[in-house]
Amino acid sequence: VFIAFEGGDGAGKSTQAARLAEALEARGYTVLRTREPGGTPVGEKLRSLVLDHGNGEIDAHTEALIFAASRAAHATQVIRPALARGEMVLTDRYIDSSVAYQGAGRNLGQDAVRTLNEWATSGLQPHLTVLLDVDPDLGRRRRTAGQATEDRLESEADEFHTRIRDAFLDLAAVRPGSYLVLPARLPVDELAGRILARVDTLLD
Ligand code: C5P
Repeated sequence: VFIAFEGGDGAGKSTQAARLAEALEARGYTVLRTREPGGTPVGEKLRSLVLDHGNGEIDAHTEALIFAASRAAHATQVIRPALARGEMVLTDRYIDSSVAYQGAGRNLGQDAVRTLNEWATSGLQPHLTVLLDVDPDLGRRRRTAGQATEDRLESEADEFHTRIRDAFLDLAAVRPGSYLVLPARLPVDELAGRILARVDTLLD
């Protein structure tokens, strides 16, 4: 089973992915936790490339292609082999993040970015996407609370984050059966419980 965690910066994706992994491992499942952009040595380099270069150094198209390249490596080298071994795969971000950040946030067009990424992953789709919906206010507070220096993308204007949030919600609305949308402001334990309950329905 392949599960993606999506949502804006500060949504709590990594915390919830870790909680779900723990719960599944306690039941005897082998779980692979991975993240984007990254997940492979090449992917991690691409991640630093895109995150470390200041505004203006990487144009939007280049950024979208780097994320897609990282995702292609991730799908081929990490996700597909783990699924073939029968493992549960939990990824922190997947195609929806590119549709939201590059397609909507950077105005490249959501359809174009989706097509690019479906090509890059040969159509590999999650069975379930957990969308932690974060309002830009909460996201900003969480982003600035934990770190002294924000990376380039995290310091974007609220308006950018609002476009991203709306794009995530639109994606979930198109295929509601494949999404679990939860407000990121809920307590961590409650989120974890609701996510596990939904995942259980996939495991029967
Ligand atoms: O949340 P995570 O640490 O995985 O993401 C790193 C950064 O990459 C975040 O600031 C996020 O805004 C950005 N990102 C992006 N486009 C993607 C995926 C992540 O701009 N497709």
